[in-house]
Amino acid sequence: MKILGDYHTHTTFSHGKGKVLDNALSAKQKGLTEIAIADHGFGHLLYGMKRKDLPALKQEILDAEKQSGIKIFLGVEANFTSLNGDIDITEKDLEYIGVLLVGHHRFVKSSIKDKFKFFIPNMLGIKSKKQIERNTNAICQAMDKHPIDILTHLKHGIAIDLEKIAKKAVETNTYIELNASKMLFTKEELLMMASLGVKFVINTDAHNPQKVGVAENVIKTLEEYGVPLDSVANLNGVPKFKRVKR
Ligand SMILES: [Zn+2]
Ligand SMILES: [Zn+2]
Repeated sequence: MKILGDYHTHTTFSHGKGKVLDNALSAKQKGLTEIAIADHGFGHLLYGMKRKDLPALKQEILDAEKQSGIKIFLGVEANFTSLNGDIDITEKDLEYIGVLLVGHHRFVKSSIKDKFKFFIPNMLGIKSKKQIERNTNAICQAMDKHPIDILTHLKHGIAIDLEKIAKKAVETNTYIELNASKMLFTKEELLMMASLGVKFVINTDAHNPQKVGVAENVIKTLEEYGVPLDSVANLNGVPKFKRVKR
């Protein structure tokens, strides 16, 4: 049992260490058939990629596909930017971007109101009922407003109502990521999500080419916990992304 694709890999276009080709060759070596490059969204104040680099990224991907022989999707790991479900990706960006991942990160460009009601409370680790409600609504609204393919590292640095988000993910055909660099869910949470019909994608979040495709730890955990492996879209198969024709 192994993953066929890794859809959350970083490169030097944000703060990864390798080039697109390095990630592709590492994936190929491990028997993967496809990857996505998902560098940090434009609104990230420290690591965000630049909009003006999109054409260069596209070209690097085309060249690396030819050289490696594996499929490479141009993706992004966008940021939640507000309490109202906004993200740092425009319609125009989506002409370039095939696979849309979104995650919660600190240090993101936002309004003053969102700084005080969203980013700062989460940075301080506030887990009040009110804050959980705000965070959960922001993520659920984002799934309604944008064609999100994968929610990355849910719960990381943000308190949420996971059941509500899981239900919205099922309703909107959004995959929930199982992140190989940090397992964020308990056994009970994983079983709860699977029973609601959530579809998962295992990703590495590799910032280093060597880590691309290394996800045996997640598969082992799922087996141990008795989570049905057919709930994972990239185990012995490939996911269906909203705006990608296969
Ligand atoms: Zn992230
Ligand atoms: Zn990442």
